[in-house]
Amino acid sequence: MQSPNTMETHTTDRFGDREMDIAIISTGGTFGMQASARGLRPAQVADRIEALLHSSAIPRLTYTVTELAPQIDSANATPMAWQQIVDAIDARYDQFDGFVIIHGTDTMAYAAAAVTYAFSRRDKPIVFTGAQRPLSAANSDGPDNLVGALKHLMQNRPRAVDIYFGGVVVSGTRAIKFSTVADRAFIAALRSHDAEDLPDRAAVEQAASSAFYADIEVPVIRMYPGITARTVSAMLGDDLPGAVLQCYGFGNMPAGTPGLLDAIARASERGQVLVAVTQCFEGAVTLGASEVSTSLADAGVIDGGDMTTEAALTKLHYLFGRGLPSSTVRELVAVNLAGELTRSRQ
Ligand code: ASP
Repeated sequence: MQSPNTMETHTTDRFGDREMDIAIISTGGTFGMQASARGLRPAQVADRIEALLHSSAIPRLTYTVTELAPQIDSANATPMAWQQIVDAIDARYDQFDGFVIIHGTDTMAYAAAAVTYAFSRRDKPIVFTGAQRPLSAANSDGPDNLVGALKHLMQNRPRAVDIYFGGVVVSGTRAIKFSTVADRAFIAALRSHDAEDLPDRAAVEQAASSAFYADIEVPVIRMYPGITARTVSAMLGDDLPGAVLQCYGFGNMPAGTPGLLDAIARASERGQVLVAVTQCFEGAVTLGASEVSTSLADAGVIDGGDMTTEAALTKLHYLFGRGLPSSTVRELVAVNLAGELTRSRQ
């Protein structure tokens, strides 16, 4: 499956004409995991990466490998784990020409989006990669992914954050994990318009400072036939800053369910920032396209356009993490900060 945002890299032997010094930062994930009686578990990996790169002999590459402690299964990642990656890059930013982040696939799309927001005003290349099968397996995809990520970084020098995985490049705010088994684990989802994808500079200035992903909770509420007002109210809570509503299609939900829209309207009135995204993989939310979705807009829900769930969730964390008031978050969540949102120009 090839979406318009999925770019094949053409691996040639052409590298940049100067040496690049790259910081390889491992956070954990299957890439470096070792077998245990209870299944794969995170393990130290720096020596194995060095052995691998020694035998790959990539021209003009110098690098250092850092393992964040502890190495984790990315299923255990929290917003504070995103902050740990941001801090690790930040601490090395002036010293290196680019960064390769080794990360578990389960939450790589979230981490890549989080890091994209954090570095949206800076332009050194950052590339995430990992593996479906650990380095210890004979058929591991880890070596190709790591070498491919380094080559992508050195040849293409993306000015933002990319995921390189299974020969495919997906931008950091567009990725979703697509397969539990395929080498091409990620695809780029959504993006409804080909409109020029420039971030809103003024909004970026307003939003940006050194990132701080705080330990707050932003629930993702997936709509499904049979969902009740009780469930939605319980998930929204009354002291959480906001939520991502995973709606049907253009931004629909079972609005006829007794109490559901009231629960949502009350949460908006309390100042909770509610963003509608679509459960589909193509297209975008368009509140107002149907009577049901108009009622969501009336209840204060923000149109999340073609943002993925991953990009919307991390964006709310990014904005709330810097202590912005909810009125400012409402404004900024609806504009493009880092390629996560395209809007029709009409
Ligand atoms: N559970 C692993 C992780 O996300 C899966 C992987 O890396 O492929 O860390």
